[in-house]
Amino acid sequence: MTIKLQSHYVDLGPQFSRLSMPKKQTSAVSLLWNDELAEQLNLDIPVDTRAAYFSGSLLFEGSKPTSMAYSGHQFGHFNPQLGDGRAHLLGELIDRDGFVKELHLKGSGQTPFSRNGDGKCGIKPAVREYLMSEALYALGVPTTRSLSVVTTGESLMRQHPTTGAVVTRVATSHLRVGTFEYFAARKMYDEIKILTDLCISRHDINLSNNNHNKYINLLAQVIDNQIFLVTEWMRIGFIHGVLNTDNTLLSGETIDYGPCAMMGAYDPSTVFSSIDHNGRYAYGNQASILQWNMARLAECLLPLIDADEKKAVNLVMPLLQQYPEKFTHSYHNMMAKKLGFQNSQQLPQSLLDQLLDTMYKNQLDYTQTFTHLNDALANTNDIAKFSPQMTPWYKQWIDALKSNEIKIGHALLTMAQSNPLLIPRNHHVEAVLTETEKTLNNKAVLHMLDALKSPYKMTKNTQQYQSIDARADLNYQTFC
Ligand code: AMP
Ligand code: MG
Ligand code: MG
Repeated sequence: MTIKLQSHYVDLGPQFSRLSMPKKQTSAVSLLWNDELAEQLNLDIPVDTRAAYFSGSLLFEGSKPTSMAYSGHQFGHFNPQLGDGRAHLLGELIDRDGFVKELHLKGSGQTPFSRNGDGKCGIKPAVREYLMSEALYALGVPTTRSLSVVTTGESLMRQHPTTGAVVTRVATSHLRVGTFEYFAARKMYDEIKILTDLCISRHDINLSNNNHNKYINLLAQVIDNQIFLVTEWMRIGFIHGVLNTDNTLLSGETIDYGPCAMMGAYDPSTVFSSIDHNGRYAYGNQASILQWNMARLAECLLPLIDADEKKAVNLVMPLLQQYPEKFTHSYHNMMAKKLGFQNSQQLPQSLLDQLLDTMYKNQLDYTQTFTHLNDALANTNDIAKFSPQMTPWYKQWIDALKSNEIKIGHALLTMAQSNPLLIPRNHHVEAVLTETEKTLNNKAVLHMLDALKSPYKMTKNTQQYQSIDARADLNYQTFC
């Protein structure tokens, strides 16, 4: 079967991206291949050509590789010229369900946007992206996905000498807040209209939400997407690590797994990224940072919302102002489900606050706390054995379930759907990455992935990856 890619993004015009060829690799070897995703994308690629196609050395019919233009606020400071410095959009295809998906290579060589960068990606970050994005997907969190990792055989200098790799990312679109900022900074509003229309068609934006224009509708929907996304991150203890506006997709899918990590002991100020010195992107700051990013998107849209800036601001402000309340409601609802309630009204604020306080003060592991509550409720474990400090709270929780007339079986079912038994814990991920870098084979990754694919079920390998290492987390640092 011939595979033909479309080039919607290239066809938008040269302002949006620069045609740029991936670096030809002569020693590329396929390390990871996502069979299930390949099937979903109708990509039937013979094993012996995968490395050539997914290093970018061999092109699919119709492919016009291009590097996308974008700007971005990095740690709060505007950088007008970022763009794909080491990435190539190969093109789009239609998946089995009829949705457009973009194929994007990362680590595929220098581009017109490389600035001083080498255009390359190390094997550890490439495998981290594959492992973490597939873990989040299995956990039910909106995310870009990974189709392939290919090693290039090149030697790179990072924190230490390492091997180069190319990861293939699959996204519904790569429209970032930074893409809109790129054109707004240049006062290119015709281009923002084009991006808006692309976003509306690609992401099924509901235009009948309210009586205002489509830009307001777009913003409203994108804000909702971010609130859902950050609530889901918080449910599983995910810390993105670098929530710059160029790493925020309008679709609300997780993108850029550079310095991401998982929270172990509950502490909203948890940060692992080596470059996040002030904790701007700490676990507990993520919701307000995404709100800030939405304000940047709103600024890009203002001139299109109304020629009168004051009027435009008046239309946009309510959306941004409603964000904290909407997020709080979404978060409370999510936590209610983690505790077996049906909705936020059933979980008293004080009960939630006390739980968070108890976890924080006693440095309890976030994921384990909920699995232990589950086991205690199911009568298979004693909460006092997990943490004696939890006992008074536990009694109040049981009372709250009773007063809401929630049957234990029902609470357990709700909890099982919200509380993973397995998350990709930092020390396990790091061990797998180190092993893969050393051996250049995929055994360790596949073994861990096999368990991560069923995060809500005990499988034969689950237990091996459940162990916690609080001490390793204390010194843990991630690098982009
Ligand atoms: P990030 O922090 O990963 O979102 O990347 C920020 C910007 O740096 C983007 O424009 C990337 O394309 C660019 N970049 C990151 N690493 C490299 C590299 N090794 N070579 C060229 N550009 C890079
Ligand atoms: Mg990025
Ligand atoms: Mg990155």
